[in-house]
Amino acid sequence: MKATDVAERLEAWTDCGVNLCSGQFSDRSAVLDRAAHLQVTRSVLIASSVEESADVIALAESESGCIATVGIHPHQAKDAPADYIPALRQLAQHANVRAVGECGLDYNRNFSPPADQRRVFAAQVALAVELELPLYLHERDALADHLAILSEHKGQLPPLFVHCFTQGPEALGEYLALDAYIGVTGWACDERRGEALRRAVPLIPDNRLLLETDAPYLIPRTIRPKPSSRVNEPRWLPEIAATVATLRNTTAKELARLTTSNAQAFFGEWPVREVICAPC
Ligand SMILES: [Zn+2]
Repeated sequence: MKATDVAERLEAWTDCGVNLCSGQFSDRSAVLDRAAHLQVTRSVLIASSVEESADVIALAESESGCIATVGIHPHQAKDAPADYIPALRQLAQHANVRAVGECGLDYNRNFSPPADQRRVFAAQVALAVELELPLYLHERDALADHLAILSEHKGQLPPLFVHCFTQGPEALGEYLALDAYIGVTGWACDERRGEALRRAVPLIPDNRLLLETDAPYLIPRTIRPKPSSRVNEPRWLPEIAATVATLRNTTAKELARLTTSNAQAFFGEWPVREVICAPC
């Protein structure tokens, strides 16, 4: 491979959060191909239950350009099977699995009782520490409890990724104190709802910034013309990047290089999705 090829590959985008098992996607290969045509050539497929963890591993096996996480989302905590920890431990042995999650606390909707959320989150943090796998975190309206559970393992914590960070500079400071990586989604493209986040985005250190769509959720509001579907896809990652580049006073090209290199530092390296490009 020529040096220029390597450089070009680093300028391709990495989507650090794709819920590809969602029922909102029918042709999953086509979703990834559409993204790859727009240089979004690597995807992190995230899981929210034991069952989905097995599914994303299988997808990452059959679809190029993908890696997987295994874990239980706070919304699903109340439905976690009795043997979820041994089950996740076993699934985590697969080479495509690069993190435990998404796990954490979500008191915004409390789809699971907070006590269940805390129990299932604490067990997954302990598992990540045991397996020395990075933690893929989801937190909404639960900062203090989230930090408290993480701090029980202070000094032993694996690398942390705060996925879909939506908060302001103060919460950002708390997570940066844990040396966490910070994931920015299309939330940043929403001037009203994303106001606090938009103040935090320029404060994220260059070596801690990651980009993600959280597809099929959170379609960026900035897309013009407005797409007919509300289903977000990894192909919209450059749209998020355009907003983030403006907020950080940098270029899209530099942001691609930076965030792809950060993704590889956090998750470990993995090959891109190659697309045979018909005239396009
Ligand atoms: Zn999430």
